[in-house]
Amino acid sequence: MIYLDHNATTPVDPRVFEAMKPYLTAQWGNPSSIYRAGQDVRKAVEDAREQVGLLINAEPREIIFTSGGTESDNTSIKGVALNRGKGHVVTSAIEHPAVLKVVEWLEKQGFAATYVPVGSDGVVDPAHVKKAIRSDTIIVSLMHANNEVGTLQPIEEVAAIAHEAGAVFHTDAVQTVGKLPIDVKRMGIDLLSMSAHKIYGPKGSGILYVKKGTRFDPCVHGGHQEWGKRGGTENVAGIVGLGKAVEIARAEMTAEAKRVKALRDRLEAGLARTITDFSFNGHREKRLFNTASVCIRYVEGEAMLLNLDMRHGIAASSGSACTSGSLEPSHVLLAMGIPAEIAHGSLRFSLGRGTTEEEIDKVIEALPPIVEKLRAMSAFPRKE
Ligand code: PLP
Repeated sequence: MIYLDHNATTPVDPRVFEAMKPYLTAQWGNPSSIYRAGQDVRKAVEDAREQVGLLINAEPREIIFTSGGTESDNTSIKGVALNRGKGHVVTSAIEHPAVLKVVEWLEKQGFAATYVPVGSDGVVDPAHVKKAIRSDTIIVSLMHANNEVGTLQPIEEVAAIAHEAGAVFHTDAVQTVGKLPIDVKRMGIDLLSMSAHKIYGPKGSGILYVKKGTRFDPCVHGGHQEWGKRGGTENVAGIVGLGKAVEIARAEMTAEAKRVKALRDRLEAGLARTITDFSFNGHREKRLFNTASVCIRYVEGEAMLLNLDMRHGIAASSGSACTSGSLEPSHVLLAMGIPAEIAHGSLRFSLGRGTTEEEIDKVIEALPPIVEKLRAMSAFPRKE
């Protein structure tokens, strides 16, 4: 398989798997137990917490282990809302469903919300956030990088705007932690979500960074774990795997970004050279180094994906989500003002640690004939 869907998930790095193994076999103690078998495991959990702190410039005490990005997003936004009891939430139109669905749910509970638009480049204008802020705004949530098109958002500026208004600032940094340098203190972040499986760690493991003093209500009530902020016996192997993935990212992130960006640029140039009626989605500079999002006219994204997979073993993604039998175009592309018929022909290639030049060249060779074949059979109306 040629795997170009790293924004969806990544393979577990063998070094991560090796680090996790003892905690799925011999080291099975409960980290809350006071005897030796428990305390050895406790140390492994705390070492992982320290690794995360080093990566994002946080105190270990500010890191809460969760089941991943979705839980961290839910806890951040619901946690602040439930703590305040009422108020207004600001977010963007291009957030992941783990944020959008939470805000929509809060609206049903009586909270108010504003969904800030994006420009045609997929970037939020901080002036729109400023305009959206109300006297009762309690939280502003803006993702760091969009998972579909890769655009980077001006989170430092937006954090400052939120703070001026006395609101908490949350960022869904699931697509950037471990890929780009993040300093929560310098960037003014109060709450941050990350997920291990996007950076070669295990699925079902993530963190929520909570700046000291940020008031929120826990969403998972239970035992005293994580200082009472997230109940439940710790997912020890998952946490150790996350810690190892973070340690590797910290050491290798800079070199990896350079290598992967060159491959992504090669892919984009190769496709743009050979495919007609072709466009790039999102800001050309303010974006993740590993993501190429394109629209190819007069073809269905899903049809291209099936052909890439069945004929060449190439795994990529489209902006569409197959919901109850009808193909909905991506809410991100629509928010960028891309017409639905063009958004239907979107493809996302997200590169990663294992991607090679040879693989990229195979995609450049494989896709154009697929597009031609599909266009010849297409029911899409072609302009003359
Ligand atoms: N936020 C973003 C931007 C994502 O890309 C994802 C994963 O697809 C999530 C949140 C959800 O993370 P998880 O799969 O760890 O629940």
